[in-house]
Amino acid sequence: MFEVSFIPAFKDNYIWLLQHDRRAFVVDPGDAAPVIARLEADGLALAGILITHHHADHQGGVEALIRRWPVPVFAPAAESITGCSHPLSGGECIDVLGTPVQVLAVPGHTLGHVAYIAGDRLFCGDTLFGAGCGRLFEGTPAQMAESLAVIAALPPATQVHCAHEYTEANLRFALAVEPDNPAIRERVARVAGLRAAGRSSVPSTLAEELATNPFLRCREPGVIAAAKRQGAAGDSPVAVFSAIRGWRNGF
Ligand code: ZN
Ligand code: FE
Repeated sequence: MFEVSFIPAFKDNYIWLLQHDRRAFVVDPGDAAPVIARLEADGLALAGILITHHHADHQGGVEALIRRWPVPVFAPAAESITGCSHPLSGGECIDVLGTPVQVLAVPGHTLGHVAYIAGDRLFCGDTLFGAGCGRLFEGTPAQMAESLAVIAALPPATQVHCAHEYTEANLRFALAVEPDNPAIRERVARVAGLRAAGRSSVPSTLAEELATNPFLRCREPGVIAAAKRQGAAGDSPVAVFSAIRGWRNGF
């Protein structure tokens, strides 16, 4: 199994670095410069690139990286991705540095968005965040709710490697949705401590997300009640999700 760490990029992006035997894959290299700097500093050769979706902050570095290392680029078949050599639509199993990695279709943030699962590690791009989820730029609430349900059904020990450090702001919203949820209060304090110390709040565990992330809690009475106060059209999980997501957009 490969080792996992991250390369910070832009203001709040995480480019995940998978390494084994001096070879590396990167997930969502939005910027090439910090990736090249890290690979050089650590004496690693790039062996492949995994892309979750087409947004520039996730694929902007691909062109420069494959010019230097002509490596395979695994990416959503349905999206326009620079240098894509292995188009994916979900359901595939690919080899990453000798480890089998499952590909999941998780449409919602974008229509072709995929996530990658390696053992207990999930790389989910902009689908699930710490205490939040991605905006619906292309998909419908029903599509995103279904994608999040697929993720929610993974083992609770799954480590959630999302692509942005958004947890603190997301927790402020989570607390507005469920002010009486002690798990959210505990996480607010813990994440504040991590961030004050300059540390990352990710990866989290799926168990932690199930307990604190309003977008995975659309069947909880407190979340349903909050969604109804926001004008949810009924208490089905999709109606609740849609109302909570709409509320978050203007929060
Ligand atoms: Zn995005
Ligand atoms: Fe992004």
